[in-house]
Amino acid sequence: MPPPLVSRHPLVLHKLALLRDQSTEPRIFRALVRDLSKLLFYEATLDLDLEPVTVRTPLAECPSQRLAGQLGLVPILRAGLGMADAILELMPTAQVWHLGLYRDHQTLKPITYYNKLPARPTLDLAFVLDPMLATGGSAVAAIDILKGWGLTRLKFLALIAAPEGVETLRQAHPDVPIFLAALDSHLNADKYIVPGLGDAGDRQFGTTC
Ligand code: URA
Repeated sequence: MPPPLVSRHPLVLHKLALLRDQSTEPRIFRALVRDLSKLLFYEATLDLDLEPVTVRTPLAECPSQRLAGQLGLVPILRAGLGMADAILELMPTAQVWHLGLYRDHQTLKPITYYNKLPARPTLDLAFVLDPMLATGGSAVAAIDILKGWGLTRLKFLALIAAPEGVETLRQAHPDVPIFLAALDSHLNADKYIVPGLGDAGDRQFGTTC
């Protein structure tokens, strides 16, 4: 069970500080989510499969390589949307499959409210996207669904995680690598990541009460 890969890239650390800052307004927050998502995705795709291809430059034929297999993005609604949009700019041929999960306040268990996956899997590798890996409940539920769909190759990308969420995800799905911009201290009594950044959905969409 490999540990999560926590980025040490200076650009990631710089942008993460801006993202956490409570005075960062939604417009800038969304831009930072986009930048950080692309930087994390770059780190999470170092081992993607390639296949040979020959292209013709204006001067000659050139042996080259292209990505092999169908890649997919699975944003967990709603906070994962900003991550998916950003990564699509880097990889416009990716399929996007949305999963809507929320935590029942009484049972604290994740409930699926949106899932339009077709009967058979259409992907070779999926990147599950959620900016905050807090308790791990939604992450585990999303990956349960995707494995039940027939996927065998998955990676999980989050901007900030709590140790509790990482542990829960690693115990349930030890084969799914986790890529993070930061691994924080702990969850508070309301299951928010500390120091974290607050509610990632509210901060992206300006819905903070
Ligand atoms: N979801 C968030 O948006 N923030 C947290 O700190 C935990 C879960």
